[in-house]
Amino acid sequence: MRYFIMIALFSALLFGLSARTSGATTRPQARPEASVTLPQTTKRPKMRNEQLALFGLGKKRKQERARAKAEREGMVCGVSGLQGEVVGQVPGKISGCGVNDAVKLRSVSGVALSQHAIMDCVTAKALKTWVDTGVKPAFGKMGGGVRKLRVAAHYACRTRNNKTGAKISEHGKGRAIDISGFYLENGKEISVLNDWGKGRGGKALRAARKAACGPFGTVLGPGSDRYHDDHFHFDTARYRGGPYCK
Ligand SMILES: [Zn+2]
Repeated sequence: MRYFIMIALFSALLFGLSARTSGATTRPQARPEASVTLPQTTKRPKMRNEQLALFGLGKKRKQERARAKAEREGMVCGVSGLQGEVVGQVPGKISGCGVNDAVKLRSVSGVALSQHAIMDCVTAKALKTWVDTGVKPAFGKMGGGVRKLRVAAHYACRTRNNKTGAKISEHGKGRAIDISGFYLENGKEISVLNDWGKGRGGKALRAARKAACGPFGTVLGPGSDRYHDDHFHFDTARYRGGPYCK
C-alpha cells in the first residue's frame, strides 16, 4: 500500500512537471508574470531569444570581421579593389594645396600602380571606374592584359603646369593623376610617348583615353597642349557644361 501511494505521488509529480513544461512551449514568450511565477518556464524562451540575438550578433560580427580583414589587406575608400593605405589629412605647403581624407593607392582592381599615389577617394573611385570600364576593355588580352599603370604624377603641391603665378593644379588638391604607360603581363610597356597613334598599342591608348572622359572631369593627353605629349592627365574637377576632354 505504501509503495502504491509513493508511486501515485511520484507519477502525479511527473505529470505536474510535464504539464508545466508543455505549457511553457505554448505560452507566449513575453508574459511578464511568467517570469515571476514560473522561472523554469521563462528560462527556455529567454534562451531562445538569446540564441537568436547571438545569431544576429554573430552575423554582424562576421561582417565586421570581413571588413576588418579587407582593411588589413589594404582596402581603402570602402571599395574592394582599391588597395592602399589611409593617409588622412595632407597639409599643403602653400595656400590652396592639401587633401582631406587622402589615401595612398597601390593597386586598382588588381592592376598595380608603378608608384603609390596619393589622392582623395572621389579620384580613387574614378580611377577604378576607368580601369574597369576603360583600361581593361581597351587592352583586352594584349600581352596577357594590363599588369601595372605607370604613374607619372599624383599629389604634388604646385601650380598648373608648374607656371609661377598660375592657379593651384588639381594635383595639389589630390584630385589628379598622370598616367604615362601601361605595363603588360608579358613585360612589354605601351607608353603614351612611344605608342600614341601607332599600331595596336596606339589604338588601345586612344580607347583608354576616350573612356576616361566621364569618370574624370578633365582628360588631357597628346594634342591637348605642349605639356601632355608623354602622358594622360586625369582629374576629378568638374567644369560647368560637363567634362573637359581635349
Ligand atoms: Zn596632370
